[in-house]
Amino acid sequence: MTSGPHVVRHGTNVTAVRADNPGALTLTGTQTYVIGRGLPVVLDPGPLDEAHLGRVERVVAGRAVAAVCLTHAHADHAAAAAVAADRWGALRGSATTLARLGQEGRPLADDEAIPLGDGLRLRAVATPGHSADHLCYLLEPEGALFTGDLVLGEGSSMIVHPDGSVEAWLASLARLAALRPTRLLPGHGPPVEDAGPRLAAHRAHRLERVAQVRDALAAGARTPEQLRAAVYGDLPASHHEAADLTIQAYLAYLEVPGR
Ligand SMILES: [Zn+2]
Repeated sequence: MTSGPHVVRHGTNVTAVRADNPGALTLTGTQTYVIGRGLPVVLDPGPLDEAHLGRVERVVAGRAVAAVCLTHAHADHAAAAAVAADRWGALRGSATTLARLGQEGRPLADDEAIPLGDGLRLRAVATPGHSADHLCYLLEPEGALFTGDLVLGEGSSMIVHPDGSVEAWLASLARLAALRPTRLLPGHGPPVEDAGPRLAAHRAHRLERVAQVRDALAAGARTPEQLRAAVYGDLPASHHEAADLTIQAYLAYLEVPGR
């Protein structure tokens, strides 16, 4: 799982630095992105791992940094937030993310853009669903979209019930599709070049999961084990907690009258 290079360039304006924290939810590891050339942003400093932060430091290469931005407060993305802020500059993220981390910083408003120099901007897009505090970031004008944990590079992201919700996730996905991104650069997993079709496929997949839960309930499934087996089949134990929280989110979505 840790094979392959830690540092991958995605064109002239984006470099990904992958942390060595592979797992059921983190896939090959959290990706920290250094975005922009003249005045870059460090997005999601990741776990508190000095080797990882050293690799990020070498990509920053002594440049002044516009901000350390966060997609959300989960530890695999933000445990190094305070250390990164000391090293590179002010933390930016949703007000909820900063409050959850207990960190000083300048909250980013939805749709607020950070100038990166060279005519580039990084725009915050409020996208709850995986978690309530989640932001995605759009690199303008080139159209790369940093999707954090809302959409992963492969597989389906978890919905952390009750902080996340299916309703919010679907609305956020629709908002991302309307931005017409040129590609997706997720917090975990490979880049996605066919952004539009992939976002549509994620929506269809999620609705299919909801339908599977509804059908399993109709067939008499009641316990978490029964629902998990009906929806996910034979899932490794490492995935049970994430699956069960996401199934709870599906159940909450189905409880809305008329659905
Ligand atoms: Zn997360």
